[in-house]
Amino acid sequence: MLNKTNPDSKNPPCEVRSSVLQDNYHRQITYLRVSVTDRCNLRCRYCMPEQGIPLRTQSELLSWKEMERLVQIFTELGIRKVRLTGGEPFVRKGILDFLAKLCTRPELSGVYVTTNGIGVDRFVPQLKEMGISGINLSLDTLRGDRFRLLARRDAFEQVMATFNSIIKQRIPLKINAVIQEGWNTDEIIPLSQIAERFPVEVRFIETMPFRGSSARMRSTRTADSIRKVLLDYYGDMKQIPNGQSTAKVYRIPYFQGKIGIIAGYSRLFCGSCNRIRITPAGRLKTCLYGEGVLNLKSLIRRQAADDEIKEAVRRAVFARRRNGFQAAWSRVGSITESMAAIGG
Ligand code: SAM
Ligand code: SF4
Repeated sequence: MLNKTNPDSKNPPCEVRSSVLQDNYHRQITYLRVSVTDRCNLRCRYCMPEQGIPLRTQSELLSWKEMERLVQIFTELGIRKVRLTGGEPFVRKGILDFLAKLCTRPELSGVYVTTNGIGVDRFVPQLKEMGISGINLSLDTLRGDRFRLLARRDAFEQVMATFNSIIKQRIPLKINAVIQEGWNTDEIIPLSQIAERFPVEVRFIETMPFRGSSARMRSTRTADSIRKVLLDYYGDMKQIPNGQSTAKVYRIPYFQGKIGIIAGYSRLFCGSCNRIRITPAGRLKTCLYGEGVLNLKSLIRRQAADDEIKEAVRRAVFARRRNGFQAAWSRVGSITESMAAIGG
């Protein structure tokens, strides 16, 4: 069972050798996102081209054992929350065992997974049983015909089956809805009404222009304009504190759940960012918009000791850029990866 205490609240001196992970801007890192695969059973327009992305071979991906070792090392560095993502995490064999192992780790206060929900409904009772802390389910539309256009697969009913199963099992649920100008802007209100009927957080996400996508990006619907649509409709919408989350969260009177808005493109949350990522190929990313800054896989495969890996991680984190704009500018090339290869 998970330890529900708060992440380490010590405030160490800002230096590379500190026992917790802290960057040069005093941001403490407590949240690790692990992308367990680059494979996916959907082809969402904003994420992947229709023909998919060039995939890593199995041996290029981190093995479950390698991921386990990395999680162990990162928890010793102060990580308290882990999220598995992808690609689609549930297409990789062994995901349930790995999640179950994470859930038994006493150092972690939260173990989460982000999924598109395809074929996942049958696993939900097991996820409940292992004590998963929460699930993020991606759902950009409530219309089956539109789902087929947005995700290029006819799988809307499967996502809804997973939604119903999560609700039935009472697992904390967040819905991720990426708002794409001209595609689903007319569904901001219908999607928000899920939070009226159910105790879930519906989060609207700005489309980020990652180049794995083949969708021609029209102008991005900003977090501010999404908020305005909601405010105009509901009139009363109060922002509530939400820790270091990327989402600004709002409460609307008589809603069972909450509304979140994530300015992923405007990058308004960088100042309090507490997260880092491991890509399926085993690179550490200290910013979604930056390049992989450390090859963890090669360290592991050349038998580096835990202390050597920790030191390399501390240095990489310490060198983190102030925000996503600086991280993007400091790249050698422009952003060419799909979110599926980064771990969104
Ligand atoms: N396949 C899983 C899913 O779709 O939930 C997990 C991986 S997916 C990359 C994680 C999240 O990133 C999803 O909620 C997805 O909608 C979001 N995402 C992917 N590409 C994006 C983009 N270009 N802009 C904003 N969000 C994006
Ligand atoms: Fe797959 Fe998730 Fe990307 Fe959609 S957003 S293509 S479901 S990885």
